[in-house]
Amino acid sequence: MYEDLRWLAISWSEGPDCGGPFAPYSQSQRREFYLAAWKKLRDKSAIYPCTCSRKDLAASASAPNDLDDEPIYPGNCRARRDALSFEKPAGVNWRFRVPDGEEITFEDQHFGQQRYVAGGDFGDFVVWRRYDVPAYQLAVVVDDNAMRISEVVRGADLLKSTARQLLIYRALGLQAPQFYHCDLIRDESGARLAKRHDALSIRKLRESGWTADQARERVMAL
Ligand SMILES: [Zn+2]
Repeated sequence: MYEDLRWLAISWSEGPDCGGPFAPYSQSQRREFYLAAWKKLRDKSAIYPCTCSRKDLAASASAPNDLDDEPIYPGNCRARRDALSFEKPAGVNWRFRVPDGEEITFEDQHFGQQRYVAGGDFGDFVVWRRYDVPAYQLAVVVDDNAMRISEVVRGADLLKSTARQLLIYRALGLQAPQFYHCDLIRDESGARLAKRHDALSIRKLRESGWTADQARERVMAL
């Protein structure tokens, strides 16, 4: 990604490669930040330990509304009240207890007003994985807050995750940033680009002799 970004003449002022005021920038070096958030959420009973196996979940989970999304958790472990007996998160999955039926709304800077229903559009999602790493949803909230990010720009596939993350911001007592979600780049048939579209990856275009200007023009024309 560094190579591709540099080839496109996109530069940055902070990051794992160049440092900056909020270093370290690698998630693997930021465990203490995530752990502090986990403790806070555990103390408030905003999260609970889940010992369901993949098999348990496959048997009872309802199908997601859209293909990309994770199934809604059926709530098997929701009534557990033993969160405080865990001094460390490792060994179980930790799920965020979403406020069932609550509408989560936000103004996306590109797509406008967004509305999701907790417990309907998404269920109790994982914030810490049993093999002892924070899940994406928790890590981005903690990092964006610690690094004083004022506007998050990312793909439209993460619109619904914004609703999940707003719940984490609220539970941690943090101010959420603004969000701008971009349209996804799609192929001729409308499918979003994935690994099977390797021929269209920036690296492959670069190797086959495209210039950065050609790649930029092609994307702008989509
Ligand atoms: Zn469970």
